[in-house]
Amino acid sequence: MPAPTSSEPHAPAQGTTRSEDLFARARAVTPGGVNSPVRAFNAVGGTPRFIRSAAGAWLSDVDGNEYVDLVCSWGPMLLGHAHPEVLAAVQAAVARGTSYGTPTEPEVELAEEIVARTSVEAVRFVSSGTEATMSAIRLARGFTGRDVVVKFAGCYHGHVDALLASAGSGLATFAVPGTPGVPVSSTELTLVLPYNDRAAVEAAFAEHGDRIACLITEAAPGNMGIVPPEPGFNEFLAATCRRHGALFVSDEVMTGFRASRQGQWGLDGAVEGWAPDLTTFGKVMGGGFPAAAFGGRADVMAHLAPQGPVYQAGTLAGNPVATTAGLATLRLATDEVYAHIGAAGDTIRSAVATALAEAGVPHTVQASGTMFSVFLCEGPVRDFTDASRTDTAAYAAFFHAMLEAGVYLPPSAYETWFLSSAHDDRAVQTVLDALPGAARAAARATEVSA
Ligand SMILES: *Cc1c(COP(=O)(O)O)cnc(C)c1O
Repeated sequence: MPAPTSSEPHAPAQGTTRSEDLFARARAVTPGGVNSPVRAFNAVGGTPRFIRSAAGAWLSDVDGNEYVDLVCSWGPMLLGHAHPEVLAAVQAAVARGTSYGTPTEPEVELAEEIVARTSVEAVRFVSSGTEATMSAIRLARGFTGRDVVVKFAGCYHGHVDALLASAGSGLATFAVPGTPGVPVSSTELTLVLPYNDRAAVEAAFAEHGDRIACLITEAAPGNMGIVPPEPGFNEFLAATCRRHGALFVSDEVMTGFRASRQGQWGLDGAVEGWAPDLTTFGKVMGGGFPAAAFGGRADVMAHLAPQGPVYQAGTLAGNPVATTAGLATLRLATDEVYAHIGAAGDTIRSAVATALAEAGVPHTVQASGTMFSVFLCEGPVRDFTDASRTDTAAYAAFFHAMLEAGVYLPPSAYETWFLSSAHDDRAVQTVLDALPGAARAAARATEVSA
C-alpha cells in the first residue's frame, strides 16, 4: 500500500480515528475545538464525534459510525434530518439567491404561521435565540421605562450578558456562577430566583415591583434537564407581572413548536386563558437554519423600530432561505407529528426508567409535552438545586455506553432528550436495546463514586 501522499495532508495518524484527528486540528484553530461549549464532550469525557451527514433519525460520523440521534441539533430537527420536503423547499429558495436585505414573501408567510399557532399578535425575526431574548428584554425595558429583569436559576436564555447571572445549560455543567466578561453593571439589574417558588417571586415583586421591567422564564425549563412548571405556575407569573405593571416574557426558544403544536403555551396558557406579553422562539422555527423570533402583544411590539422608538435590527434577519426552511417545517408539523414524537418518547422514557431501576441506579425521568430528560438522582426535581444533585459521573458512563451501542445522547447530564417524527421502530428499538447495558455501566460508576 502506498504511503499517504501530500494530496492527503490530513490523513489520520495510525491508530487514531478521523474524529480524533479533526478534533486535534480543531483545537489548534478554535477555542476548545468547538463553536459551542457543550459539543466538546467536557462533561462526559472522550472525543466529540464529527458528523458528516444525517438522515431521518440517524447521524453518520466521519469514521463511518451511525447513531440514533437523541439530540436533534438541540431541538430544531422536529421532522428528522434532511426531510425531503424541507430540502426541496430550501433548494428552490437557494436557487433564487440567498439574501437580499429586503422584505420577502417567505418571512410574511412564516410570521402569519407563527401568529396563527401561538398567542403572539406580531413577530420580529432575528438570527438566534440569544438575539431573541436580548431584544425582548430591550423592548420590555423600552416599553415599561423600567430596568430590572427577573429570571430563574437554571433557566438558560442564550448568552445575553444580563441573563448569565446564573445560567443552566453548559454553565451548570461547568458549575461556574455567571462568567468572566460580563460586567457587574449588566447583572446588577437582574434578580435570580429559584424556579417553581411562588413565595420568592412574591417577595421579589413586593420589594422591587415598581422597578421590574419584565420577568423572563423558560416556558418549561429544559436547559437544566426538564423541570416542568408546577400546575398554574406560569399563570401565576403572568398574573403577578400584570399586577405590578411588568411584562411576562415566555422563552419558548426550546419549547416553541416542540412541546406541542403551539409550544408550551398550548399546554397551559391556551387552556387556562392567559397569554404572555412577549414570547421568544428559535430552534424548530428555523428548520435547521439560524432563525429565531420574538413577538407578543401588538401594542408592545409597536414600540419597536421603525414603528416605535426601541431600536433593533439584523442584516440576515428574516433570511429567505432560513424562513423558507422554517415555514416548510411548521407546515409539516401536524398533530400526527406531535402524537408520533410523544408516543416514541413515552416508550423510551419508560424503558430508561425500567433499565435504571433494574440496575439499581437512582433516577428521575421528567417530561413536558413531548420533551423529556433523565436525572440520575432521586426526584422530584423542582428547581436548579434539585437538578444539581444528578450524578454526572454515572451519566458519563451511561452516555459512553449508549454511544458505543449506536445512540447519540446529549453529552451533558443537564440536557433534554429530543426525538423527531423520523424516529421509527428501528430507531426506537436501537435505543431500547442499548439501555440495559448502559444502565449497568451507570451502576458501576455510581459504586465507584459512592
Ligand atoms: C437554545 C436556547 C436559547 C438560545 O438560542 P441560541 O439560538 O442558541 O442563541 C435561548 N433560550 C432557550 C430556552 C434555549 O433553549
